[in-house]
Amino acid sequence: MIDRDRPDDVQPVIDAALAGLRRQSVTIPSPWNARALCDRLAALRGRPIHLVPGSRFGWWFDHLWIAGDNADFIVWADRSSPVHQRHGVLHEIGHLVLGHAGVLVEPGADLNALRPHLGYDDPDEVEAECFATTAGLLAETRPGAAVGTLTPEDRAAADRLAAMVGAEAVRWT
Ligand SMILES: [Zn+2]
Repeated sequence: MIDRDRPDDVQPVIDAALAGLRRQSVTIPSPWNARALCDRLAALRGRPIHLVPGSRFGWWFDHLWIAGDNADFIVWADRSSPVHQRHGVLHEIGHLVLGHAGVLVEPGADLNALRPHLGYDDPDEVEAECFATTAGLLAETRPGAAVGTLTPEDRAAADRLAAMVGAEAVRWT
């Protein structure tokens, strides 16, 4: 673990995490493909990782990792720029591979109340940002296809999440 008072020590933690992933044959896809990376990590972790478009909840900029009982959900800013989308997804994956605690969502929760706020007094956020930046350098400079193809399971997961938090129905686009 990093010394929480010494942010200079973050980079070795990230480098070690990425080296650990490489040893397990997990590489950052280039060209970038979030679905492919999540599939690989899900196989290693033994639980699915669903990609949920933030526009489903009226989000335009934020990203969020939700740790469910049997699956992980990454809500990503599907309407933002490709570079920002990739950075956001890698940030949430960073939380996941660095062993941080995910956000737990109770039925009926207001998802907007869980929106992350950029603040780097939380060491987990520093680590996740550093992971996203470092891992992003391993992908190509400017991502084209931002995420890959959403699966029917992703869409079903988004519907379940929306029902759970009482989100208004939003048409898939
Ligand atoms: Zn974060």
